[in-house]
Order: sequence, then structure tokens, then C-alpha cells
Amino acid sequence: MSKRAEGERLPTTKTVEKKDAPEVKKEQSKEQKPKKPEQAKEQKAAEKPQPVKAVVKKPEAPKVQAPVQARVAAPVKRPAVPAMPKAPRPDIDIGIDVELPTKTCKDQFCPFHGTLPVRGQIIEGVVVSDKMQRSVVVKREYMRLDRKYERLEKRTGKYLAHSPPCLEVKEGDKVRIMECRPLSKTISFVVIEKRV
Ligand SMILES: [Zn+2]
Repeated sequence: MSKRAEGERLPTTKTVEKKDAPEVKKEQSKEQKPKKPEQAKEQKAAEKPQPVKAVVKKPEAPKVQAPVQARVAAPVKRPAVPAMPKAPRPDIDIGIDVELPTKTCKDQFCPFHGTLPVRGQIIEGVVVSDKMQRSVVVKREYMRLDRKYERLEKRTGKYLAHSPPCLEVKEGDKVRIMECRPLSKTISFVVIEKRV
């Protein structure tokens, strides 16, 4: 009987414990249930930023590294590119709409093949002398109003101009000359176009 009693007691106790246990578990579960969402929220909140940070950190690292490599590589390539066009050096755009010379020359005072910048006046005239070396005399005719007699009078002006050899200017040619820096005491023009 003692065994039975013990046996009986044991199951009873077990049952009681079992009965109590689910209640406690229920209570715990009830208590835990409201906590769970909070904890879950906290956990989710804690979990969410972590992956986000991890995701953000990962792309940042390669992004930062990539531009650094690009920046390092770009300046190395850039000086090599402008060096190429310098060697062939086609006709320089002088900024004026003129017919470019068909031939080339090595004259430093040529606005197309040299280093002479042009600016200022543009004058059209006729070459009256080409006896100088790389210089010509250009004669320009223009009309001037005489107010006292109300008549137009014909006037002429002579300009000394540098003549680049690539244009092959000869006496009698109609040319356009453009102002440049003083090349000598009397020459501050250069021939930029030869008109047939
Ligand atoms: Zn030239």
C-alpha cells in the first residue's frame, strides 16, 4: 500500500505539478506574450539596423575604394591625352572666318602655324610691294566726307604687314590684314587671308 500510496501520491503530485505548471506557464506565457512583442520589437529594431548598417558599410567600402582608384588613374591618363594633339598640331583657329592656307610653314609670326595671336582691326587692301623679306606693303583706299564742300574725297593709306610664307602673297593680290602685336618699329599687322 505504501508503494501504491507513494505511487498514488506521486502521480497526484505530478498531476498537481502538471496542473500548476501549465497555469504557471500560461501566466508566464501571458506575461511573456505582452513582453514578446516588445522584446520582438526591440529585437527587430536591434536586428534591423544591424543588417542595414552591415549593408551600408559593405557598399561604402568599395565605393570609397573605387573612386580613389579612379582618381589616381584619371590624372595619369589625362596628361597623356593632351600630349597627343600637340605633336601633329593642325592649323590654329585664329577666331576669324578666313580661308585657311593650304600650305604649311615654320614662321613663328604666322598666325596659323606660329605663335602670333591676332586682335584688333581687320583691313582689306591691295599689295603694292612684296620686295621685303616676309613683309608686304598694303594700300587701302577709302572715302572721306568733306563737310565744307559736301563732297566725298578719295584717300589712301599704306600699311606694312608681315606676310607668312604659307600664304605666298605677291604684288597685286587683294589681302586682308589683321592687327597684331608690334613685330617691328613699323609693322603691327599680319596677312591673314589672300583673296583671288
Ligand atoms: Zn603659316
